[in-house]
Amino acid sequence: MDQITPQAHALQPGRVGSLKITKVTTHIIDLPIVRAHQFAATRIKTQAYLIVEIETENGIIGLGEGVTPGGPWWSGDSIETMKTMIDRYLGPAIVGRSAHNINDIHKVMNHVAAANLFAKATIDIALWDILGKVLDTPIYNLLGGAVRDKLEISWALAVGTAEADIAEAEEFFEKRHARVFKLKAGAQAPEADTERTIAVAKAMGTRADIRIDPNQRWDEATARRMFPRLLDGGCSLVEQPIQSWNIEGLARLRQQFNMRIMADESVTTPQTALDIVRHAGADVVALKIMKSGGITGNRQISAILEAGGIAGFGGTFLDSSIGASAALHLAAAERNITYGCELIGGLWLAEEVVEEPLTYSDFHVHVPTRPGLGVSLDRKKLKRFSRA
Ligand code: MG
Repeated sequence: MDQITPQAHALQPGRVGSLKITKVTTHIIDLPIVRAHQFAATRIKTQAYLIVEIETENGIIGLGEGVTPGGPWWSGDSIETMKTMIDRYLGPAIVGRSAHNINDIHKVMNHVAAANLFAKATIDIALWDILGKVLDTPIYNLLGGAVRDKLEISWALAVGTAEADIAEAEEFFEKRHARVFKLKAGAQAPEADTERTIAVAKAMGTRADIRIDPNQRWDEATARRMFPRLLDGGCSLVEQPIQSWNIEGLARLRQQFNMRIMADESVTTPQTALDIVRHAGADVVALKIMKSGGITGNRQISAILEAGGIAGFGGTFLDSSIGASAALHLAAAERNITYGCELIGGLWLAEEVVEEPLTYSDFHVHVPTRPGLGVSLDRKKLKRFSRA
């Protein structure tokens, strides 16, 4: 079998036409957000995205998106390095190959560049979009069909003071956008972040589910001090309290406290998913289109988590409606993504570059049902928000 080249299996010309990739184009855009957002290591007022368009010989254009949480602090990936990686290495390597053979293209990309899962994810999304468009069906149907058509939203409270976070939680609860809230932590001292979380939990009472995400900024001893206070104070879940490599530490925290733990930075590859399962290091894992090489890599991870009895959650780097649509098609199809999502880009961005932004109602975001990703570029806006 190894002797047969993947090109020999290309979809036959005819109704579909040739899916040979002719061009890969990238644009950096900066979109305004509704309010400044405080991450563990940076505060942002606009969010940068890398938009990728992959064209095929039959004229179909697939749309992909790359995003990081406001800069390279999370994984080392940045919008600017992703653009260089695609323009100089990944794009030229895939031109001339058939867009339908996503497995082959991942093999080629892995041959050309180690790591760089964010840049590879951006291309992966565009390939699935092409395949959906050419077969005239939403991506979730290509993944075996949908088991859900909407996901409950968890909103990230990231203004940075208890008063402002409570006001935002009240507003979003009132608008029926969210009743699950995650406090972004790590920029302040652990005590201050813990007190702020407890203040929001007290204010919202039984109306809401309150969580905290220190983004690995605590060590295990600090987590042991904060967990009892968070439990007493009504916090339901802690996301990635300690360093990504300390999976055994996550498992110890789970054993010591009756607190649910979500792993995020700890799980980016199938191998790390296997580690978290082996050590029983989490109750839930945040799956993210970007951090794991797109829909393709996330499916592998989701299967491992399902086999290990760990639930999946639809995490985000504040993807716009483009990346969030990819995540929603995955979440629609994966049985194990049972813990809701934080695909809030459509609520958090003041402007978008698509004609069909995602729809939110009654604490949920809805899975798009149009062919491919289900979104198309608004070219005027793309031009307006393109970085000079
Ligand atoms: Mg996180």
